[in-house]
Amino acid sequence: MLDHHLHVWPHEPGTPTPGFDLLERYCEAATQRGIEQIAITEHSHRFSRIVDEVFPHWDRPHDGDLADATAHILDVEGGGDLDAYVAALRDAQDRGLPLLIGLEVDFLPGTTEAMAAVTSDYPFDILLGSVHWLDAWLFDDYGTPAFAHQWEARDVDEVYANYVDSIIELAESGTVDVLAHLDVIKVAGHLPNRPNEYADRLVEALPPTGLTIEFSSAGLRKPANDTYPHVGLLRRLVDAGMAVTTSSDGHVIDHIGYSFDVLAGHLGTAGVSSLTSFDRRRPVPRPV
Ligand SMILES: [Zn+2]
Ligand SMILES: [Zn+2]
Repeated sequence: MLDHHLHVWPHEPGTPTPGFDLLERYCEAATQRGIEQIAITEHSHRFSRIVDEVFPHWDRPHDGDLADATAHILDVEGGGDLDAYVAALRDAQDRGLPLLIGLEVDFLPGTTEAMAAVTSDYPFDILLGSVHWLDAWLFDDYGTPAFAHQWEARDVDEVYANYVDSIIELAESGTVDVLAHLDVIKVAGHLPNRPNEYADRLVEALPPTGLTIEFSSAGLRKPANDTYPHVGLLRRLVDAGMAVTTSSDGHVIDHIGYSFDVLAGHLGTAGVSSLTSFDRRRPVPRPV
């Protein structure tokens, strides 16, 4: 198995450049759990260069509760040195650790070109594309009251429709390699009245993009209590020819390979016999 979505920084202040010792401990924990390769994929908003060069292009509201809460998150979690982060991962790779140099790229309307200009400066192996924000609403941060309240204030089907719009725009931008936690909009346990409508749109739009789908165990640790994507949606995307990788989206060592026995079982029933790794953003098939 592969764990292609791991963070080195919890969602709290501090963005120390990962040292070789930490990366070695990540790889040792992975090996002990039967995982041959990991990817370190820190969030784009944690790096000063990205916040300075890319975020000014982000088309979103700048006033009100949500804008304030988002500004607070960026302020608290930012400060990472992208050059140093990539250099540390590259050094670890050169010294033989089985890890990929990655980044989790947030889809933020208006920023796609500026983000691609930054990422093209680095030898990334894998770029995960994800949607966490709808306008200034960080919808998966349900622990922050201003964000959590939006689930009561908005129509859930409209939220799902907006989310799917963003996923499709991200996928069609051609700027990332993998679609991460494809249906994370269900994270807090709010489900739409018309689930098939959203699944159908994804199954129609995504296969032609040629992107890889992440099959993630992270939702099993959340109120959604389900894989991302749901196994039924995974199966439809696989049947339509999409490649798959696996992940825990862990933010601490204990989460590496989290519930991978569950993922492996679902991969078997979905008929997935090979996963996709990446080498400097070129897909490389690997046996499950
Ligand atoms: Zn994410
Ligand atoms: Zn993540």
